[in-house]
Amino acid sequence: MIQRYDDENGAHFGFTDRWGGVSAVPYEQLNLGGAVGDDPDAVRANRKLAAESLGLDPAQVVWMNQVHGRDVAVVDGPWGSDAEIPSVDAVVTARRGLALAVLTADCTPVLLADPVAGVAGAAHAGRPGMLAGVVPSAVEAMVALGADPSRIHAWTGPAVCGKCYEVPEKMRAEAAAIEPACWAETSWGTPAVDVSAGVHAQLAALGVRTRSQSPVCTRESGDHFSYRRDRTTGRLAGYVWLDG
Ligand SMILES: [Zn+2]
Repeated sequence: MIQRYDDENGAHFGFTDRWGGVSAVPYEQLNLGGAVGDDPDAVRANRKLAAESLGLDPAQVVWMNQVHGRDVAVVDGPWGSDAEIPSVDAVVTARRGLALAVLTADCTPVLLADPVAGVAGAAHAGRPGMLAGVVPSAVEAMVALGADPSRIHAWTGPAVCGKCYEVPEKMRAEAAAIEPACWAETSWGTPAVDVSAGVHAQLAALGVRTRSQSPVCTRESGDHFSYRRDRTTGRLAGYVWLDG
């Protein structure tokens, strides 16, 4: 249900797969996305199940309305209502114990934590967001709250891999002109983009030395939601928080 990583400094990272929830086909089972056509009651139940399995209070999880941009929200508590959720692709907090969540189904979920400063961040990096600089934006916002890139532990979660993310030649050229590390080729020999590789190159350039990457490709894994494979499907979530 959830792959969890806890570092020795009190930073916690979790990535869900599609199992262990209550949603029906084609969102089976643990769909955590509220805007994909699934029954809202099922999504609510799934968010509760996922939070509880991580030892989190579901009411203390901060979600975003993701729009493939580079805007960041600084938060110090949960949103008052769904109507308050801003359209951003990154959230950062200096509130220990508050969990930040990012939804994906092929895009790269980026989780960041500086346990010494007590600052965490989560970002949604698809191809447009990665190229727009959502990851540098998130790190910059964390630094403004006292984080130091050299202390940040970054995790990227399950995402479509560079061998699967086929794009037109022109799109690859444009992407690689902005972030050379994302240049890729599919396993069948056509142009591709590796968004996670781009994210890791950006993090390295920002001085984030402690970086981990999930080996899971969502398009290849039957245990994960993949938009490119299934179109109508659920959303996975990544969670990051610091000991309170
Ligand atoms: Zn793949």
